[in-house]
Amino acid sequence: MSDSSTVSDRDSISAELSYPFEAVPERGALLEVAPGVHWLRMPLPFNLDHINLWVLDDCDGVTLVDTGLGMPDSKAIWEEVFERYIDPRPVRKVVVTHFHPDHIGLAGWLVRKTGAPLYISRTEYLMARMLCLDVRDEPPPELMRFYEAAGWDETQLDAQRQNGYGNYAKGVAELPAGYMRLMDGATLSIDDKTWEIWVGEGHAPEHVCLYCAERDVLIAGDQVLPRISSNVSVYATEPESDPLSDWLRSLHKFKALPDTALVLPSHNEPFYGLHMRLDGLINGHCAKLERLARKLDTPKTALETLDTLFGRKFDNPMLLSMATGEGIAHLRFLESAGLVERSYKDGVAYYCRTASPAMSKAGFVEYSRGPA
Ligand SMILES: [Zn+2]
Repeated sequence: MSDSSTVSDRDSISAELSYPFEAVPERGALLEVAPGVHWLRMPLPFNLDHINLWVLDDCDGVTLVDTGLGMPDSKAIWEEVFERYIDPRPVRKVVVTHFHPDHIGLAGWLVRKTGAPLYISRTEYLMARMLCLDVRDEPPPELMRFYEAAGWDETQLDAQRQNGYGNYAKGVAELPAGYMRLMDGATLSIDDKTWEIWVGEGHAPEHVCLYCAERDVLIAGDQVLPRISSNVSVYATEPESDPLSDWLRSLHKFKALPDTALVLPSHNEPFYGLHMRLDGLINGHCAKLERLARKLDTPKTALETLDTLFGRKFDNPMLLSMATGEGIAHLRFLESAGLVERSYKDGVAYYCRTASPAMSKAGFVEYSRGPA
């Protein structure tokens, strides 16, 4: 079980966003942030110590968006919220933005408790169901080979082995065996209002955001966070993927949403300044890509690039694995762009710049829009 949102924020801090709410809601309290849209904050036992959930009025009932980590403390808070704010009104939908445990953790529990159906995209549902079932005593060989290839030393590999495998299921209550599918470009009616479904990729494979034009409100999940940048990682399950391309294309796509929208992120506070933030995130990654490409004048392992990318070392095994995944995501982007080549020695991957001309940060920003 991990806090899978972020390892780094160095390149992406935006000072000029505006935060319309001075205080965060107290434990177990709802705070109305737009007509019929209520903010609920849940604790998380990670560096990132909270998640924002949303309770929406829905035709004399409510719809819940995201659910908190599957732990007793979050359940106790939900019980309090039901008693103070929801009962005896029915819950009409349990909506989940993506499969990460802090978002989906209590979805199954809430579905059983309320009888409401689960609304989620297909890939996120299948990922969550798969990971809940994938519990084993030892990490699979693919995972260990992945970290070996990244250049981890024996001590780091051992720490990973000691960590075991299958922690995901510990933070996620059993999910229902069926769900209602949310699809990019479709709509969902909540309180007789139309919410557009905007899918983003890269942080999670089919992450759902919801935008209501009538309210000019965007429920952004982890797709657009104001103060930290979401983790974008290559995983051992798909070692040749290029999630950073997906991520950057999604950020460009979200600029079609109005800049006036009130953005409700899963971490930190609601804010205005969507386009500035999207640009900040795109620029942050592109600055990293430029820096990384420059550094690869001699062959380096993924591990050896982490200092360049994050400006720090990672001793904690969980943070090291997140940083490694994110480092490989940047390397894979450069490789897909033809700027970097990979070679292997004793199972370890080395990345080195090709003869292609260097690309500036602005060049990366342009390139990251993807094919027209
Ligand atoms: Zn997430």
